[in-house]
Amino acid sequence: MSYFVAPLASLIEEFNKLPGIGKKTAQRLAFYVISRDKGYAEDFAKALMDAKEKIKYCTQCFHITDKERCDICGNPNRDPSVICVVESPKDVLAMENTKEYHGVYHVLHGAISPLNEIGPDDIRIKELIERVAKGGIKEVILATNANVEGETTALYIAKMLKPFCEKITRLANGLPVGADIEYADEVTLVRALEGRYGI
Ligand SMILES: [Zn+2]
Repeated sequence: MSYFVAPLASLIEEFNKLPGIGKKTAQRLAFYVISRDKGYAEDFAKALMDAKEKIKYCTQCFHITDKERCDICGNPNRDPSVICVVESPKDVLAMENTKEYHGVYHVLHGAISPLNEIGPDDIRIKELIERVAKGGIKEVILATNANVEGETTALYIAKMLKPFCEKITRLANGLPVGADIEYADEVTLVRALEGRYGI
């Protein structure tokens, strides 16, 4: 039995479904939302719907965009012959914050994880292979996370790309083992990028 009236209970439930939001926080957020005026709720709802309707994935690199091609792929000053492979759009932002990387990206949207039944076909690996197989790629930098899933994914991709690309590198060990790219500080990430090695 819920202590809350149905509309409040369902609002709490929705917040509770968000990653990292526990029951207590969900309740606090729900109470905050109902304490604000109707305009706030409308703006909030509109932002949610707009994000869902207008945001899509770049047809080339699968980064988040509101266009056909993202701003990075469409930027003539970026080097399209160097592809940095990351697990999520948040990792692109982390790499961009270093301001040291001038190539393009490929966002996998996940990592291979047999434990969670996520195989190579469940993430954007096929698209990466097709992209590299077209030719003209000088280097593929594997910047998946430094944990078991990230390493497994990097090794798998390296093996699949070998016939199409001579230089396949992995970020250096400046990254702590088990670290997520998105949480790495900029200095660490720049060092990892500079010290990348061939696999
Ligand atoms: Zn793109």
